[in-house]
Amino acid sequence: MRISEILAKKQTFSFEIFPPKGDMPVQEALELCSKLALNEPDFISVTYSAGGSANSDNTSAIAGVLAEDLNLNPMAHLTCLDATKADVDSYLDALKQRGVDNVLALRGDPMPGKQHKDFTYASDLISYIKSTSPELAVGAACYLEGHIECEDFATSIEHLKIKADAGADFFVSQLFFENELFLRFREACDRARIKTPICLGIMPFTSVKQIQRMAFTCGASIPATVIKRLAAAGDDPMAQRIAGVRYACEQLRGLAAEGVDGLHVYVMNRPDVANATHDVLVDCGYLPA
Ligand code: FAD
Repeated sequence: MRISEILAKKQTFSFEIFPPKGDMPVQEALELCSKLALNEPDFISVTYSAGGSANSDNTSAIAGVLAEDLNLNPMAHLTCLDATKADVDSYLDALKQRGVDNVLALRGDPMPGKQHKDFTYASDLISYIKSTSPELAVGAACYLEGHIECEDFATSIEHLKIKADAGADFFVSQLFFENELFLRFREACDRARIKTPICLGIMPFTSVKQIQRMAFTCGASIPATVIKRLAAAGDDPMAQRIAGVRYACEQLRGLAAEGVDGLHVYVMNRPDVANATHDVLVDCGYLPA
């Protein structure tokens, strides 16, 4: 089902998975998603690895089996950095044949040796998909603190407006650790007359190393509360993971109270993360019991 149609009726709850590598990646994804399905997500998004890495071919296959075998509602990611229109056409055809109704249209991160071909920005891909595949719902990325390559927040909002005007049906946000950032972002969208629904992406932190990587790859700021929680967990990896899931649940509870369009959990292929976040959203009344 088109995510835009769901968002028109209700607040959504969804998960993101990244295709596992290995001998039977599709089978592994099926096993993972059959566990995630117990939480009745409105959709599950499947990441795409640009540049021919091991799992890029599996995104549409996994999204397809989620729809066909598990009766779940998948969204397949797609990056266009070095894609041609023909590449995009064949990817979209595969999605449509497999009963996938949703695609997340992304530019992808710049990589050495990769050159732009038919698309420069995600907005070009969004316009292209809207014109060639109007039956698909098209999502796009948004960044509550601005994209890492973009020097200031105001310009980032201008670029977001271009994606909204290109026809993005909804946005999914980059992870963030302070709910106040969402309030500032929502006000900026209102001022820019961006009315596109936003699904807010929440990722539990798992370790000091992981959170440092996040800060440098996507520019997310790390609040003192998070640093203190990690410090209190000390060197115990399990204590750090528990602290991360607990913090994500507190964030979700706070966001649920703000009247959001959707909450999207980066479950990192862990059913326990899906279960914990589901339970807290039931507890606060965001999801039905
Ligand atoms: P764009 O919207 O094109 O923006 C890229 C940069 O260009 C930004 O700095 C923007 O401000 C600037 N810009 C945009 N339009 C213009 C313009 N007209 N003129 C000048 N500058 C402009 N990556 C993957 O490889 N695989 C994934 O599966 C994946 N999933 C993601 C899911 C989510 C929810 C998010 C938030 C990100 C995801 N990414 C993924 C990462 C994403 O590919 C990177 O953040 C990438 O650097 C930017 O992609 P974009 O679609 O936001 O690009």
